[in-house]
Formats: sequence, C-alpha cells, structure tokens
Amino acid sequence: MLLDVRNIERSGFFPLLGSTFVLFAGAMIALATQTSSQTQQSSASPPTAAIQTNPSTPIGQPGVTGAPPTAAGRTQGGGLTIVVLDPAHGGTDLGARGGGGMRESEIVLDFAGEVRRALEQQGFQVVQTRQGNDNPSFDDRSAMANAQRGAVFVTLHISSTGLPGTVRVYVNSDLPAVTDTNGFIPWDRAQAPFLALSRKYADLVQGMLAQRFKGSPDAAQTGTVRQLRTTAAPAIAVEVSSVTVNDRSDLDHMAAGVGDAIARGTVAFKSSYVIPNMPGALP
Ligand SMILES: [Zn+2]
Repeated sequence: MLLDVRNIERSGFFPLLGSTFVLFAGAMIALATQTSSQTQQSSASPPTAAIQTNPSTPIGQPGVTGAPPTAAGRTQGGGLTIVVLDPAHGGTDLGARGGGGMRESEIVLDFAGEVRRALEQQGFQVVQTRQGNDNPSFDDRSAMANAQRGAVFVTLHISSTGLPGTVRVYVNSDLPAVTDTNGFIPWDRAQAPFLALSRKYADLVQGMLAQRFKGSPDAAQTGTVRQLRTTAAPAIAVEVSSVTVNDRSDLDHMAAGVGDAIARGTVAFKSSYVIPNMPGALP
C-alpha cells in the first residue's frame, strides 16, 4: 500500500542555524537573500537556494536535522555509501492485508532483510528505519535519511493491487521548489531539489526489476508518496504485487530477487550520483 497520504505531522521548516543557514544533510544551505521586491513576488519567482559545505560543522548536530545519525551512518566524504532502508508501516499500521492473515507491515520487514543483505554484499552501509514491529512517524523516517550525507532512501511496500509477481518503483510527483518568506526550504518540500536524481535512481532500479520480474514496467512511475516528500535525498518507493496471492510463499520467493535488483540499481546509480564537495553546488 503506497499512496497512503496522511496529514503532515510537522509543518515547520528545516531548523535554522544562525540567521541565514540551514543544515541540510551535513551541508550548509546558504540561501540567497531576497530583495524586498522579490519577497513581494515570492509566489511567482521563488528565490534560488545554494548549498555551501561547512567543514567545521559536525554532521547531524543535535536539534538540527531532527534525529542524530548513527555512527555507522556517517561517511568520510566521497560518493554514495549509505542506503536508508524503510520497511513501511508497522505497529498498529498493518498496511495492506491479504488472506490468511497476511500483513504488509510484516512482509516488508522480511523483504528488508533480503534487501539489506544484497546491499551489504555490494559494500553499502544500510540504515534501517525500523528493525521490529514499531511504527516510526513519516518524519522520523525521513529524518534518518536527512541526517546522512551521501545516502539514498528506499521505502518498501507490498500492494493490494497489480499483477502478482510484478514490482513497481515510484518517485514523488513534481513538487514546486518553494521557499518560505525567509528563504528556507519547507520540511514538506525537502524532496523537491532531489527529484531528478530520484527519477534516475528509480528508472535504474525499475530496469533491473523488469529483467527479473516479467510484466513489471520498464520505467518508474510517479505518485503522491508521503514518505518521499520530506526526504532530502534521492528517494524511491518499491512496491511488490501483491497481498492477494493465495500463499505468502509466493511473495517470500520474490524477496531475494527484489533485493538483488535494488542492489544492482543502486550500484548503477552510484556512478552517476556525485555528491557535491564544492560550496554552493546543488545536488
Ligand atoms: Zn504500503
């Protein structure tokens, strides 16, 4: 179940650090100062934002990104090294439900184990948003990605629709890259600067999935995906069809292939995702 839109639980903005900077995945975003005339026309012509690296600023400074990063989640600089893996739903949120007590929230946790193994075999560090049957908020899950530098985000779902045995990859639909009247990027638009990268990543993973799971589309699709909207990283949703199978083992047998396809797609994406080291560069 993917298109589960909920009210945004946090309506604020990326927290401020000083008067003109926002910490953004370990980088400082220096936002262009608006003139008074730009401010008056801000809805028509939003100001541009630029990212400025500040090596003196520790990554994941408490209170800045919303959640402290794990020690394993830090990078030493360089390219993509971390995959934040999100088994969707959990706790009282069961997700899609099928016959025989099948619950999406449980199946995605098992899938996450396979995906994690495949990614680690390719040398990636994996940060999982939940390990058991709990239900972190959308914002908590996004914050785990937003606290990293050089990460991608993958949320895993099982659908209640679609041809059983196929897999679809989604990216968030277009988000206006707005800034607020002070020039800051709203929390619920965090994905906007990363959408082009997310599409590229999604198409690469979808291509790998299509080779393995016949009937899957060749290219990624767009949708309104709440979990992706607040994520400041290349971010995709992977949705496996479906909980309508008669036997859960039909789904379980797909997990290793899904993991392998995501890992291969992530390797392919790594070469094209250059994390800017230069101040002032957008992703
Ligand atoms: Zn779901």
